[in-house]
Amino acid sequence: MQTELNTAVKAPEGGTDQRCPYCREFTTFQPAADYAPVYNYCTACGKRFIVERLRNRIDAMRLEDAPCASDPECRIIEMGQGDEE
Ligand SMILES: [Zn+2]
Repeated sequence: MQTELNTAVKAPEGGTDQRCPYCREFTTFQPAADYAPVYNYCTACGKRFIVERLRNRIDAMRLEDAPCASDPECRIIEMGQGDEE
């Protein structure tokens, strides 16, 4: 089974603290139990952003900055259209 984990190493600066990537206020990240990216909502500004568990930390990014592999909706679309390599 192929995964995209190896391509998810590009991280924006400051991705280790739990701050909203939009307003930079502290908010609690709620990553998935596995390495799948999930949407979280900022408790300060209410915007939706992506939280993704990496190997040794948790990363958050804005939707417009996320590659398709880190966007839950984009992943679903891609998988639905055929998972051939
Ligand atoms: Zn925010």
